Amino acid sequence: MSAIDTLPPLREVIARHRLSARKALGQNFLLDLNLTAKIARQAGDLTSCDVLEIGPGPGGLTRGLLAEGARRVLAVEKDARCIPALEEIAAAYPGRLHILQGDALEIDAPAHLTKPIRVVANLPYNVGTELLVRWLTPPDWPPYWQSLTLMFQREVAERIVAQPGGKAYGRLAVLAQWRSDARIVMALPPGAFSPPPKVSSAVVHLTALPGPRHPADPAVLSRVVAAAFNQRRKMLRAALKGLAPDIEDRLRAAGITPTDRAEQIPLEAFCALARQLDRS
Ligand code: SAM
Repeated sequence: MSAIDTLPPLREVIARHRLSARKALGQNFLLDLNLTAKIARQAGDLTSCDVLEIGPGPGGLTRGLLAEGARRVLAVEKDARCIPALEEIAAAYPGRLHILQGDALEIDAPAHLTKPIRVVANLPYNVGTELLVRWLTPPDWPPYWQSLTLMFQREVAERIVAQPGGKAYGRLAVLAQWRSDARIVMALPPGAFSPPPKVSSAVVHLTALPGPRHPADPAVLSRVVAAAFNQRRKMLRAALKGLAPDIEDRLRAAGITPTDRAEQIPLEAFCALARQLDRS
C-alpha cells in the first residue's frame, strides 16, 4: 500500500480540522485524489525535482505530488488552520514535505529549495496572476524554476496562451511566451472543486526556455507591452507616444505599421520595437 492510501479521505480531513472554505483566501479545494494525481503528472517527472507548491490547503494536490514521487515538496500556505492537516501528510512521507506558513508574495521560496525545481499549484485566484508575473520576470534568466504547472480561471489560462488577433492576447501572453513554452493541458469544470467556483478552470504548463525567443531588454519590452495594451483600442502611434518623440519612425523601423493596434502585433515585432527603443 502506498503512503497516499494510509491517509484519511480529504472530506474527513477537512471536517476534522474544520477547514470551512474562505472566499477571501480563494479557497476552492480539490477533493478527488485521482484528479490531483493527474494534475501532478502534468508537471512531468518529479522524482529528481524539488517542487514548490503554493496554497496546499488541506493537501489534496500535495498528496498527488508526493505519490507521484516528488523528491521534496515545499508547501507555502497562508491559512494557519491548514497546517495541522499538512503535518499529517508530512508524517506519512518522512523528510519529503516541508511546510511554510505565510504569504507566498512575501516568502523567499527558492532559498528553501534545491534545483531542479518545478512549481505546481492550484493557485488562489486573488494572487495567481501576480505570482505568475513574478515567476516570468525574475532578475536573471533562466529562472530558478524548470516548469510551472498552474491552475487558473479558464479565462486567465486563455490569456496566457493567446495568439495575436483576439481579445485574450495581451501583456500576459507576451510575457509568458517570450521565454517559455505555454500550453493548456487540462480543463476543469466548477464541479471539480469544493465549493465550486463560478467559472471553469484550466491547468497551464509552462516550460522555461534557455533564453528568449527574440532578443530584447526585459525592462524595455515590459514598458512597451504595458503601454501598448493599457490603451489597446488606440493605434500604436498614439498609445506609445510617451515612449519616444519619434515613435512613428521607430515603429516603422521595427516593421510595425503605426496605425496598427497592440492586439495585432506578434511577439517578434514587440521585441523588435523594444530593440529600436533601446537604441536611444
Ligand atoms: N491546493 C489546494 C487544493 O487544490 O485543494 C487548495 C487550493 S485553493 C484554490 C488556494 C489555497 O491558497 C488555499 O489553501 C489558500 O488558503 C491559499 N492561499 C491564499 N492566498 C495565499 C497566499 N498569499 N500565500 C499562500 N497561500 C495562499
